[in-house]
Amino acid sequence: MAHCTISTISAFRDNYIWCIHDDSTAVIVDPGDATPVLRFLEDNNLDLEAALVTHHHPDHVGGIQTLGTNFPNLRVIGSPESRFGGIKEQVREGDSVIAGGNSFSVIDVPGHTLDHIAFVLSNEESTHLFCGDTLFSAGCGRLFEGTAKQMHDSLRKLQNLPAETQIYCAHEYTLSNLDFALSLMPNNKDLQDYHNQCTLKRENNESTIPTTLSQELKINPFLRESDPEIIDNLQTLNYKALSEAEDRFAAIRHAKDNA
Ligand SMILES: [Zn+2]
Repeated sequence: MAHCTISTISAFRDNYIWCIHDDSTAVIVDPGDATPVLRFLEDNNLDLEAALVTHHHPDHVGGIQTLGTNFPNLRVIGSPESRFGGIKEQVREGDSVIAGGNSFSVIDVPGHTLDHIAFVLSNEESTHLFCGDTLFSAGCGRLFEGTAKQMHDSLRKLQNLPAETQIYCAHEYTLSNLDFALSLMPNNKDLQDYHNQCTLKRENNESTIPTTLSQELKINPFLRESDPEIIDNLQTLNYKALSEAEDRFAAIRHAKDNA
């Protein structure tokens, strides 16, 4: 594929399904619902080659069976640990998978679920990360199956990607995440500016996603567990002084869950 386009397909209340395509062939990430995907493919006259699955939750895999009926050769690519029974090609950290003419590398990112993986598409111009429910703009996924340490380690791996990496997460949670982020970093000027930009986008019914790693490093409390302003505010919230970064990460996650 000489070039590719990444299109947003909205699903349910606040899910994003990502479609990577050229003029003829598409790859879809986390199709929780088949209906909007089939409509998009038909409107754009696209054949569906593969579905990439980040984790087993129904709002990420619920459309795969119907898509497989419409596209009998559909490749369903995901983790060998997946509790979703429809994975046909298993991939794990270190693997690369070619789909739709693009090469995606795989990173294990347990935490939100134990089977969670992320896909990285790199080309000459840029790096694109499809991270499901691991890293959100100004937030991260809840810990349904994994530990805070696992999620912290997973986010560390994502932080090692190039700063200009475009981040395609699976939910529009940005504004509510920003409210929490502002409670921990009320004096962060980048955060205030980003909050204003995102508020305006949502008022105009625009997506705040993709975000970029460089932006998230400035404003996402889950990537800033050593920020002195956050450490101060955690103590105000009665989290005692925590010397280990991963313990501070766990405290931030706990505070968000109880916000
Ligand atoms: Zn999930």
